[in-house]
Amino acid sequence: MTLFDLTGRVAVVTGGNGGIGLGMARGLAGAGAKIVVAARNRDKSEAAVAELTRLGPAAAFIELDVADPDSCQQMVRRAVEQFGRLDILVNNAGMSIRKQPQEYAIDEWRQVVETNLTGAFACSQAAYEPMRQAGGGKIINIGSMMSVFGAAYAAAYAASKGAIVQLTKSLATAWARDNIQSNAVLPGWIDTELTQNARVQVEGLHERILRRTPAGRWGRPEDLAGIAVYLASPASDFVTGAVIPVDGGYSAEF
Ligand code: NDP
Repeated sequence: MTLFDLTGRVAVVTGGNGGIGLGMARGLAGAGAKIVVAARNRDKSEAAVAELTRLGPAAAFIELDVADPDSCQQMVRRAVEQFGRLDILVNNAGMSIRKQPQEYAIDEWRQVVETNLTGAFACSQAAYEPMRQAGGGKIINIGSMMSVFGAAYAAAYAASKGAIVQLTKSLATAWARDNIQSNAVLPGWIDTELTQNARVQVEGLHERILRRTPAGRWGRPEDLAGIAVYLASPASDFVTGAVIPVDGGYSAEF
């Protein structure tokens, strides 16, 4: 097996039907992994599966509402039934509700935290046993620049993404001896549906990101493919608990 070869591996990508999740799924499929697209929207997911089937050995849609821990358990069980094993889990599903902290209803707070944080925990917990049985595994958690910075309109989102980093490190230490590596990726500002909405809701955001990003552009979903392959592959077998920005230099500049 070469360093970056994923032949024979099975990867679940939550929210793998669009944006960053699909960008990562394309990378994993191209490196030889079978892909489970786990999300809510069937039409979007079936379109993604059709594309991923052309790129790699196999792909399937399994319905998931990451905010429901039972749904996480069922999704993992169905993935293992269908493909026989689970090696890679990308905890990518996420959302935000943009408003000032004093305007949040407590259920809105819960929705963001349960989707972005509790969902990642529940999927990781469900994945543990099949990964252990397979002799090891790779958990890739998607944080954000909001894992590091705060924003007036993102109290719940930033809280969930900060916590994702500490969850990543805790899983890394707990499961290192099971040969399960857990790492976090912190994307910079990437052009997806999520940020297309943000650009409508937050005035001046587009120009501010262009000015503030040393690379001088928004990221694209394909900018996340390489890190996904690296963190899913034998090349990263001694890398665990790491937090890696993929941000065009955004977090490096004061
Ligand atoms: P998109 O809105 O394009 O994708 C979000 C994905 O999450 C969709 O596939 C959606 O699928 C899925 N999802 C949302 N809620 C649930 C749920 N309850 N259960 C299952 N799946 C769910 O956004 P991005 O691609 O931009 O975001 C992907 C991840 O990257 C998120 O965690 C986001 O916070 C993070 N991120 C994004 C950045 C950016 O600039 N775009 C920057 C930093 C981090 P469906 O609706 O079908 O369920």
